[in-house]
Amino acid sequence: TRVIAPGATREDELAEASIRPKRLDDYLGQQPVREQLKIAIEAAKGRGEAMDHVLIFGPPGLGKTTLSHVIANELGVNLRTTSGPVIERAGDLAALLTNLQPHDVLFVDEIHRLSPVVEEVLYPAMEDYQIDIMIGEGPAARSIKLDLPPFTLIGATTRAGLLTAPLRDRFGIVQRLEFYSAEELTRIVRRSASILGIECAPDGAGEIARRARGTPRIANRLLRRVRDFAQVRAGGTITRPVADEALAMLKVDAEGFDTLDRRMLGMIIENFDGGPVGVESLAAALSEERGTLEDVIEPYLIQQGYLVRSARGRMVTHKAYTHLGLKPPRKAVP
Ligand code: ADP
Repeated sequence: TRVIAPGATREDELAEASIRPKRLDDYLGQQPVREQLKIAIEAAKGRGEAMDHVLIFGPPGLGKTTLSHVIANELGVNLRTTSGPVIERAGDLAALLTNLQPHDVLFVDEIHRLSPVVEEVLYPAMEDYQIDIMIGEGPAARSIKLDLPPFTLIGATTRAGLLTAPLRDRFGIVQRLEFYSAEELTRIVRRSASILGIECAPDGAGEIARRARGTPRIANRLLRRVRDFAQVRAGGTITRPVADEALAMLKVDAEGFDTLDRRMLGMIIENFDGGPVGVESLAAALSEERGTLEDVIEPYLIQQGYLVRSARGRMVTHKAYTHLGLKPPRKAVP
């Protein structure tokens, strides 16, 4: 597994339990998102109502689950969490919804993976706090209407485009999380280090932050790996040279790219003459899933200007050639 994979591992989940922010003030970065949610939270509390439904989208590891914890905490209500693929039948969703307390938050991760049948049940639940469920089978079957407590649905997905339009339209608040700047990630690393009792010099935190692909989950994971290295090889304190050496050993380069990123850029250059190349061909050439390329690898390379996406496919830029120590051809995208 990649040390910079943004998906959560079992080890991440254990570690995240202690460092996951619980209040809006500890949720660092994402300034516009925080400001808008702060207002929505205060308004809902002031009116004594359930907050509007929230859709959060962005690549894995940027803080969607964390934000749902923060929102529930700030509202002072319970949080129930589930995910799209886990809710198999309409009855599973009905059971979840009817067990909520008024104003509770239901967090549905990977909401784009709900089955169409379950999604249909969700529409009236979101709109009118009501569900229609079928009881019995065949000629004896009948539908009954159930009233639900007012609740807030928080849906998370990697890309807004994956959702059906009717579902997307039912969210009053839609927020997109952006990759974090190195400064923001430095603050996150320093906060985690202090909670975990790790000695980390400011420049050490900065080095980890710069190589964490703009992603808090990766930053926290690199912090733990570098801590191990510091403990065994460098007397315990994470300084910049220690972080640098540890990360080089983990094959995370100065830009935070690992072998898979470099392989992808290299593949486009060598096998496809710099592009454009369709995502399917690229996925086949790399033996990776198309979804992994689109949701996990590409977004950061694009945001950092190493890759561009056009109607005809993916193309590498000047920067990509230079990063791999190659001379950019004249036709390369600047
Ligand atoms: P996602 O649900 O988008 O995959 P998570 O919410 O699980 O990501 O975030 C992964 C980890 O990163 C969390 O456990 C938390 O420790 C950290 N994290 C995420 N966002 C922030 C933030 N804004 N400030 C501080 N830490 C964060």
